[in-house]
Amino acid sequence: MRHIPFGLQLDGRLVDVRETPRGIACGCVCPGCGAPLVAKKGEVNVNHFAHLLGADCATGPETSLHMAAKQIVADKLWIQLPGLPIEAVRIDPVFGTFTAHRVFHEPKRWLFDSVAIEKSVQDVRPDVLGYIASAVVAVEIRVTHAVGVDKRAYLSHVGLPCIEVNLSKSVGRIFTFEELERYVIHEVENKTWLFHPQRAAWEAELLVGFEVWRAGKLIGLSGRKMGPAVKDAEQLANERYKALPSAEKWRRLEDELGISRSRFPSYLRVTLREGEGAVWAENDLWQGALFAQFILNKRAGSCLPSQQAICRWLTERFGARSGWFEGLRAAVNAYVRYLRACGFLFWNDGGFFVAHGKLQIRPREPRFVKVATVTAAEESTLHIQWLSRWPDTERLLRWAGELGKNAPEPFECELLVHWLLGLTAPASHVAVCEALEGAGGDPQDLDDVLCWLGVVMQSKRYFSVGQPAPWLCTQR
Ligand SMILES: [Zn+2]
Repeated sequence: MRHIPFGLQLDGRLVDVRETPRGIACGCVCPGCGAPLVAKKGEVNVNHFAHLLGADCATGPETSLHMAAKQIVADKLWIQLPGLPIEAVRIDPVFGTFTAHRVFHEPKRWLFDSVAIEKSVQDVRPDVLGYIASAVVAVEIRVTHAVGVDKRAYLSHVGLPCIEVNLSKSVGRIFTFEELERYVIHEVENKTWLFHPQRAAWEAELLVGFEVWRAGKLIGLSGRKMGPAVKDAEQLANERYKALPSAEKWRRLEDELGISRSRFPSYLRVTLREGEGAVWAENDLWQGALFAQFILNKRAGSCLPSQQAICRWLTERFGARSGWFEGLRAAVNAYVRYLRACGFLFWNDGGFFVAHGKLQIRPREPRFVKVATVTAAEESTLHIQWLSRWPDTERLLRWAGELGKNAPEPFECELLVHWLLGLTAPASHVAVCEALEGAGGDPQDLDDVLCWLGVVMQSKRYFSVGQPAPWLCTQR
């Protein structure tokens, strides 16, 4: 004989047996079959409900538990959330298996503004739908069958965050409402995420660890942990490369990048403000090689090795000016930051990560080539200061597009932007003026245009009150 923990009253609410009079006077029916129940309150047996006519129905205990759990969520309007354990495993053919495991928690609980029981949302009907501000979430109560693959896939398809409360081991047990509430609301061991919108991002976060781990092995950062054979092979390969004639290095790099040296985009031939000449190679050679090794075709979100590791790699491959490690570090730092400003990398939590690893050759070569270096005197009269970090191309083009809309003449602002992006040193006032004019703009608007594009500091105001602009770039 299976006990029924909660009886259904005429008003549609479930009660536990302690709340009702003994026997048929309880006035409850079975939530499974609708037959009258009696409240059994004996000295020997645990208090429970049973069918009046003795015959058990197939679904009474399960349905009773299921409905009571939903009623509790609807009454309490909150639920404690489980963590989301994620395991990431990657097998590297050289270095073996990488495993990372972490339990992600966020947020800790849902506080509902309101809930709806068994209400359809976009073709799926979860047991409980919860509304939190403008968001909708779902709770599934499991007493018999687990949620099927289809429903799980659908939850993920519609992006409905959903947890499952597993009560299958509690079927047939007699609960009071307080006990069941503890199971449904507070406990987390019996809960799992059926769909969590952050899962993919967190998985990717764990896999960043794999890239770091692998890069560390490759570059010899992990030191003693790595087998000596691997380290030797890596060093040997670098030494062999270093010994190659320059022409062969160029041939390989052009091959790897898929473009010839003459078509190198500006971001592979950057004149640096610091550390210029520290690497024992032409700028476009080591910058191109660095780009090919650490950024080209890398998955978005993969981690750039530390700058120390990059310095070591460059030294092994090309050599560095002796006794000038500070210069080398400055060069790598400046170049990595430049690539970040171009939009190839992003900075997050103490490291650089690849934002996109595709080479982008500029659609049109800049038509203006005259670049005269601006003098300090000229600059101070202009009250214009070049930014050390330029906005990324896309943003610049968007701004430029806005600018073009209001210009009376056809103003080819894209052309101006490409020319500006192609610069590796501050241009003179005259050169920029000519460029603006060449693109169809009014040279009188020069200062405003450049400020608006965000490639120079808007420092007039600060200079006029004798204060340095807070964002003023001091490194030249
Ligand atoms: Zn029944």
